[in-house]
Amino acid sequence: MSNESLLQTLLDHDVFAEEEQMVSGIARNAIDNGYNSLSGPQKRVLEPFMSQTCDGVEDPGGYHNDCRRVMTDDELQTAYENQGYYDALLCSDCINEYESYEAARGRLDAE
Ligand SMILES: [Zn+2]
Repeated sequence: MSNESLLQTLLDHDVFAEEEQMVSGIARNAIDNGYNSLSGPQKRVLEPFMSQTCDGVEDPGGYHNDCRRVMTDDELQTAYENQGYYDALLCSDCINEYESYEAARGRLDAE
């Protein structure tokens, strides 16, 4: 995984949609010319977007696990790719937790 492909994923998921156009412009520049072609100040503009805290999940009782995991690189890219499905930005642990609740719900529905 590269910074460029992470940035492409962020663009694909409209992460920069509410930012100034300059931000997505820098991201596109990084994708086209390589992240390392950016200046230090340009990298600092993108840095906050390249790590995100997990949204966490609620158990069936409504108790939020308060996950504070900071995701970067591959994990963040995967989280964005799964965001539409889970309707949240989740780390791999929370995805596993969510799936176990779903599996439990599925068993209940089947009974
Ligand atoms: Zn998490």
